[in-house]
Amino acid sequence: MSGKKDYYEILGVPRNATKEQIREAYRRLAMLYHPDRNKSPDAEEKFKEISEAYAVLSDDEKRRQYDMLGQAGFQQQYTPEDIFRGTDFESIFRDLGFGFDFDNIFDFFFGKDRVRENVGRDLYYELQITLEEAAQGVEKEIEIYRNEICDTCHGSGASPGTAPKTCNVCKGTGQIQRVQSSGFARFVQITTCYACKGKGTVIETPCRECRGTGVTKRKRKITVKVPQGIDEGYRLRLEGQGDIPPNGGRPGDLYIGIRIAPHKHFRRRGDDIFYKLEISFPQAVLGTEVTIPTLDGNTIIKIPPGTQPGETIRLHGKGMPRLDRRGRGDLIVEVNVIVPKKLTPRQKELIQELAKEFGLDNIEYEKTRNRFFKF
Ligand SMILES: [Zn+2]
Ligand SMILES: [Zn+2]
Repeated sequence: MSGKKDYYEILGVPRNATKEQIREAYRRLAMLYHPDRNKSPDAEEKFKEISEAYAVLSDDEKRRQYDMLGQAGFQQQYTPEDIFRGTDFESIFRDLGFGFDFDNIFDFFFGKDRVRENVGRDLYYELQITLEEAAQGVEKEIEIYRNEICDTCHGSGASPGTAPKTCNVCKGTGQIQRVQSSGFARFVQITTCYACKGKGTVIETPCRECRGTGVTKRKRKITVKVPQGIDEGYRLRLEGQGDIPPNGGRPGDLYIGIRIAPHKHFRRRGDDIFYKLEISFPQAVLGTEVTIPTLDGNTIIKIPPGTQPGETIRLHGKGMPRLDRRGRGDLIVEVNVIVPKKLTPRQKELIQELAKEFGLDNIEYEKTRNRFFKF
């Protein structure tokens, strides 16, 4: 269901659309393609497509990631379930008056007889690293709080010495069958038991430590491997390192958002880094050698005679390593020539003499005569 098309195009909204515009666009398209209204064979696929676009663009974090990473990058970071997780379709459908009684949207998008797995919450952590760390790759230890299985009841939720009882409502199966009708179609919908939330058991004497949920908050140290070449705004996904859900199930994921601290020497653009070098007027005229910092330590570069302000010198392969690829970007030295503002009498005298030697007493006058000077 991962279309190649752009989510904004799918909803027909501009890239700077407000949340309200996005919601309105989705409502309008849902009216056209909802399977209750549109029985054409393509409508269901189209409906999934617009719903996927809406799930992403209506969520601030997902939208930010999508804008930054593009379609392909985004779909590497989010599974289809992640994309739909957390989007409130139900209220929209109810508003529009559709007859579907969704217990959850997953059943609709991922198969009607699929019972949703109980999945814990995803956790987010923002990790700031230095540019050098990003260049070399780094392992960082972080501390997070997350829900883990309760030590006291070992996750059962029942007070020690007692045991959970079989659920009366579903007779321990955790599921309830319901006959649903939509238009002419009737089908059996299997939903999670409301009484035991799918566990098949209920707790009569809850564990005091976790109040019957089977999980408690824990502080955890986690080692994060940051690959070399990573850039600001990337997210690393640590599968299964999120919260364990109450009442048992699969843990959510832990997302590490990468921030890169400003650097005292370098700016970064993609895989290239930029360094501003200031040289004096005589250095620019005569040429020189200067020591500059690089990611691999200091190095000496040659400034050729006659270097102009704003000229750049490119050091191939001295930039950032490319993420998941071979090679490195470049280090680009931007040369600025400093014009002295205060001169000693002796300096002034010399410059005046120099000016005479160049014959450039009045450069504005020469410009008006449209002559180009080379010296
Ligand atoms: Zn407990
Ligand atoms: Zn039950």
